Amino acid sequence: MTMVDAQAPAISIRERYLDVVSDRWPVTVVPQADELLSSWLHRLAHANGVAPRAFARVLRRNSRMWSPALDFRLPSDIAKLLSANTGIAPDELAAMMLPHALPRQLLLPLRTSGHRTDSTWLQFCSYCLAEDAQPYFRRRWRLATRVSCSNHSCRLRDRCPSCQSCIAVFDQADLVPQHYCARCGYDLRRAPRIGISPAARQLDRCIDDICRLEGMKDTPSSRSLIRRLLNTHEGIYSRPNLTDLSTGARARCIAYAAKHEDDWLTVGDETAAAQWRRLILAAGSHRTLIERFADCLAKRRELRELQVKTIVQPKPVDVAALLEAYGRVMERGRRRRSNA
Ligand SMILES: [Zn+2]
Ligand SMILES: [Zn+2]
Repeated sequence: MTMVDAQAPAISIRERYLDVVSDRWPVTVVPQADELLSSWLHRLAHANGVAPRAFARVLRRNSRMWSPALDFRLPSDIAKLLSANTGIAPDELAAMMLPHALPRQLLLPLRTSGHRTDSTWLQFCSYCLAEDAQPYFRRRWRLATRVSCSNHSCRLRDRCPSCQSCIAVFDQADLVPQHYCARCGYDLRRAPRIGISPAARQLDRCIDDICRLEGMKDTPSSRSLIRRLLNTHEGIYSRPNLTDLSTGARARCIAYAAKHEDDWLTVGDETAAAQWRRLILAAGSHRTLIERFADCLAKRRELRELQVKTIVQPKPVDVAALLEAYGRVMERGRRRRSNA
C-alpha cells in the first residue's frame, strides 16, 4: 500500500491552455444605459491598456475625430472586429450609435474649436459623471435641444471649466479615464454646478419628451417640429441654426422661450401630434401627463365600482325553504282532498 503525501499538490488533467485562452481582448466592457458608442470605445481602450489615440490605429482609423465619426457610421469590418474581440453582439454595438432614436438634424455638429458662443460636439453633466461607477457619455448629450440634466436639475456643460476646450477624448494620448480633460487633465466630475431656472428646465424636459415621441417620424408634422426647434434662437442670435450655438447660448434661448413664447412649438399646427405637444407643455412633462391620465382612469374605475356596489342585488334563492313551502302546500292539498 502506498502512502499519499499530504503536502504534495493535487494534480489533475485540465483543459489545454489554448482551449481556455480566447482570442478576445483581455477586458470586456459592458455598454451602459444610453451610452454613446464613442464613449464605450474609449472605455474599452482604457480598460485594455491602450490610450484612445493609439486605439484609433488598432481600428485602422486615421481621422482626428475618429470615434465621434463611428457614432454615425460603423463600417462592417470594424463592427466584426469589435464583436469578435469583445463578445458584444453587433446589434448591441448598433444600439449605441446615433441614428437609433435621435433625429440627426438636432445633433450637435462634429466641431472641436470655435468662439465661446459656438457649439461643441458633446455636452456633459459633471454630477452624472461623478455618480457613475465607470464615467461615460450619454447619447442624449449630443442633442442641441438638450441643455439641462433632469436627474440633477442643472445646466449641461460643453467645455472643460479649466481650459475651455471641448471634450477631446478621441485625441487623448495618455492612459487616463475619459472623464479627465484631454487638454489639461482637469477632472470633469469636479466641474461646479451651473444653475438653470425651473421654467427653462421644465421646457427643456418637455422638448426632450416631445422629441422622443415625434422626432424620429418622417411626417410633415415632425419635419415642421424640427424646423421650429432649429429656429428656437430666432431674434436672439444671428446663427443659421440652433445646433451652431454653445450650451450656454442655447440655454438662454430656452429660458427666453419659457418666459415669453408659449406657443412657438404648436402655433398654426392642428395635427394630433401638435395637440399632444400642447398637452405635454401644459402638464410640464410627458410623465406628468401620463400620470394625470392614469389618475383620471383610476378615479373613473373607482366610481364605476361604487355604482355597481350600490345597485341592490336580489337575495339569493333559498332552495331548501322553497322546497319546504312546496311540501307544506302539497300536504295541505292532500289533506283537503282526503277530508272531502
Ligand atoms: Zn446629471
Ligand atoms: Zn481642460
